[in-house]
Amino acid sequence: MEQDTIAAISTPVGEGAIAIVRLTGDEAISITNQILPTKDLQQVDSHTIHYGKIVDPKTEDQLEEVMVSVLKAPKTFTREDTIEINCHGGMVSVNRVLQLVLRHGARLAEPGEFTKRAFLNGRIDLSQAEAVMDLIRSKTDRAMSVALKQMDGRLSNLIRDLRQQLIETVAHVEVNIDYPEYDDVEEMTHELLRERAQYVKGEIQSLLRTAKQGKILREGIATAIIGKPNVGKSSLMNVLAHENKAIVTDVPGTTRDVIEEYVNVRGVPLRLIDTAGIRETEDIVEKIGVERSRQALQDADLILLVLNGNEPFSKEDQALFEAARDLDVIAIVNKTDLNQEIDMNEVTKAANGAPIITTSLVEEQGIDELEQAIADTFFDGELDQGDLTYVSNVRHIQLLEQSEDALNDALNSLEMGMPLDLIQIDITRTWELLGEIIGEDVHESLIDQLFSQFCLGK
Ligand code: GDP
Ligand code: ZN
Repeated sequence: MEQDTIAAISTPVGEGAIAIVRLTGDEAISITNQILPTKDLQQVDSHTIHYGKIVDPKTEDQLEEVMVSVLKAPKTFTREDTIEINCHGGMVSVNRVLQLVLRHGARLAEPGEFTKRAFLNGRIDLSQAEAVMDLIRSKTDRAMSVALKQMDGRLSNLIRDLRQQLIETVAHVEVNIDYPEYDDVEEMTHELLRERAQYVKGEIQSLLRTAKQGKILREGIATAIIGKPNVGKSSLMNVLAHENKAIVTDVPGTTRDVIEEYVNVRGVPLRLIDTAGIRETEDIVEKIGVERSRQALQDADLILLVLNGNEPFSKEDQALFEAARDLDVIAIVNKTDLNQEIDMNEVTKAANGAPIITTSLVEEQGIDELEQAIADTFFDGELDQGDLTYVSNVRHIQLLEQSEDALNDALNSLEMGMPLDLIQIDITRTWELLGEIIGEDVHESLIDQLFSQFCLGK
């Protein structure tokens, strides 16, 4: 059967430094050969790994140093020829390589298409395929669209827009200082400058917030199940895992792409953190106490705080709520099949607005509601905004943080009533930092840009 060649980013979950572009199909090897001039992969043995340099044949630019795995049909995950290009430069580098293979005849894989081929070619059975598909749908799919959006320049456009705002501000200040006689130019007052700086700061802050969301999409929502001993944490873990097919796969060839602790709750990828502890013994809180569980909580994006409805609300319960303050919490009052000894008023007060779900895990009551609450927490909130621009590159994040600092300096100086030409230094600095994100040659073009703002005397 003739199969066109598909390619996609297939990255081990987590912040690992290695990202993989995977190709599968009849042309996988010949496409790779075109961009890897150092080695003829048709000639090498199957299941071997080769060092090489990716070169864009058009520009002859050397893009990346890579390790390439050559897996020839039929002993591959898809039973087709498969190439895995391991890139070391993270998302940016892997995106570049992906673009290149797409330009040389591969087609971007649909979510799950590798698995579909493995299934169609008889490599795995349907339940295995489903498990992998769930993972892919919940995770890579979204992460992929983030990457794709970045590739089509949304971030750059946004940054350009912010820089434009800043440069206009700077230009205004210059005009006011240098040409006080041009009174048709809107005067740049402290108030106006503050407004602009605030606006840009707000935009930078929302970009930085997306950095966290980007991480969630790539890695799953780090979820900690906490509660006193015996309240039903392990039961909850099991119910979530069974209801949602915990994505545990040892399908050969996929293990690198898969983390075992994923469950997909209505499209929300949950990564149950420290599950070794949760599965093997008891949970974090039982083992190390409330005090130290605070630390574990810091790494969590979502807390499932379990209470025993069959017991009065206790000091420990209260302490857990306090430890989880400022985090996304869903309170679960479990064991509703037993006598209710808990005072729901106390729970409501402690939950402080967090959703409260009542369950009987043994009778499987309330689980739909819980799943809905989980989905709402993430989809009604910020995560579902399909066309948000996500920032996921570490360098970008750092530059955005520095830009925010510089703007804060500007705002502080404004507060203190410093002269505008001093404040302008911080504004210019912000402009330069943002420029580094999109790789503008800052020093040259600052001057050009400044001039292009002046329509005076012409
Ligand atoms: P953990 O210590 O918090 O992990 O709690 P477990 O999940 O190990 O549950 C402790 C005990 O409570 C077990 O015997 C469970 O069967 C029981 N249990 C869990 N959920 C419920 C429930 O909804 N109703 C009742 N009656 N018992 C439950
Ligand atoms: Zn337990």
